[in-house]
Amino acid sequence: MPAKKLSEYEAKRDFKATPEPSGAGRTQAAPQPRFVVQQHHATRLHWDLRLEHEGALASWAVPNGIPPDPAENRLAVRTEDHPLEYLEFEGEIPKGNYGAGTMRIWDRGTFELHKWQDRKVEVTFHGERLRGRYGLFPIGRDGESTNDWMIHRMDPPEDPDREPMPERVLPMLARTGALPSKPDGWSFEVKWDGVRAIAYMQPGRLRLESRNLNEITDAYPEVRGLVDERGTHEAGLDGERAVVDEPAEPSSE
Ligand code: MN
Repeated sequence: MPAKKLSEYEAKRDFKATPEPSGAGRTQAAPQPRFVVQQHHATRLHWDLRLEHEGALASWAVPNGIPPDPAENRLAVRTEDHPLEYLEFEGEIPKGNYGAGTMRIWDRGTFELHKWQDRKVEVTFHGERLRGRYGLFPIGRDGESTNDWMIHRMDPPEDPDREPMPERVLPMLARTGALPSKPDGWSFEVKWDGVRAIAYMQPGRLRLESRNLNEITDAYPEVRGLVDERGTHEAGLDGERAVVDEPAEPSSE
């Protein structure tokens, strides 16, 4: 897969309007090829993986982040080659421009190249956060042209104690019981009266289940932003969803 020229990159951008590098400058190739992963808060949060190859950055947009575990392949959409200066790029791409939003470097470093073929790329990353061997391959049969690729981890998880996100957590329900004899060490909170939900949060994905274990994700699109704030962290939350009014002015009594 020879690196495409930067014409597609250039055609999509107005360099008077975006702070992104034009690619006109020259960045020397390093002895070890370099990579960058940018967390890109565009219309939809995603991670852009870019690998130095033949004088440009071969690029993929990964909607759910780089998989930390070999158990799961994740979609990686091939995007246009970027100039090498993009290894350093962070900033705000103003509204109205291609890829408008905030671009932050999530990780960067060097990689060892094992394979670079039309239908297979294999590398070992040496980054701060991203380490280990990964493979990328296009979906679909030989000869079909597609930008949809998958990325998968070939090494065991970096964290040997890593456990996958549970498929289902049963909501903890209140039950009657005896009051504690001593008040020390106990606390209470107001019961917000809203809608109970269990939230499964993974990079770029949110699933909400109700108290009765029905999927209710689509019913509450306003909660989706929670996931974007978590970035690549995974979390499970069990709580009550409620709309809280602005606090009333304190009375002057
Ligand atoms: Mn992007």
